Amino acid sequence: MTIIEENYNWARTNFVQQTPDTIVIHHAVCRSCTAQDIHRWHIEERGWAGIAYHYFIRKDGSIYRGRQETWQGGGLLGSENKDTLQICLEGCYTDYVVNGVVLTEKNVPQVQLDSLVELCKDIQKRWTIKEYKRHSDYSSTRVDNKDCPGKYFPWAEFILRVGGISMATINVSDAWKDKAIDFVIKFQKETGLVVDGKAGDATNSKLDEVLRKWKEPSKDNRQALELKEAWDNFVNKISAIK
Ligand SMILES: [Zn+2]
Repeated sequence: MTIIEENYNWARTNFVQQTPDTIVIHHAVCRSCTAQDIHRWHIEERGWAGIAYHYFIRKDGSIYRGRQETWQGGGLLGSENKDTLQICLEGCYTDYVVNGVVLTEKNVPQVQLDSLVELCKDIQKRWTIKEYKRHSDYSSTRVDNKDCPGKYFPWAEFILRVGGISMATINVSDAWKDKAIDFVIKFQKETGLVVDGKAGDATNSKLDEVLRKWKEPSKDNRQALELKEAWDNFVNKISAIK
């Protein structure tokens, strides 16, 4: 994995130091932009020190560093930023129209999602990450009804791939039925199963096997059990889809 280092002209460098324990995912609400664009907007339009995120991932999967991991981020409100690593994706993964221009993008590119998962696993080697959160999981987003990283971001797939932390947040809604089926199909393809999009016995036992692998060498059975329980719940809901 390559992290592209950028030279930023910070407006201020008196960052609060932190020990990250939470990863937060954002989308940029922008179809095409660079880490330097975000940096400039955060200074010029928000009056911040500079890019508020620790990483920015473009649609081609390239990963750019923003703030150093030990510097507190700024994409949340005030103390919500404490001890978080904030990762922003290029793109607009929700329904959004501004001045008559449709920005909505319904698919997160596979290479972009793969890079995100790889980055998160890399971060997990350096820090004890207790939780993954969407920006929209924070109470401050209720004020302006912000949907970030967007309803088309495949949260369940992402959480399963990074190891199943905080699976309780999974909620199979009508909005992403198709995504859920896509995930089952993708999982079946990747693991050499019969590809039928249905989460039956073979798919479930293969998942058990994969989960066991993920949990080595952490030996944390509680997390594995939580993940399995959430998966069963997820499968039941998919099975109910006609
Ligand atoms: Zn956000």
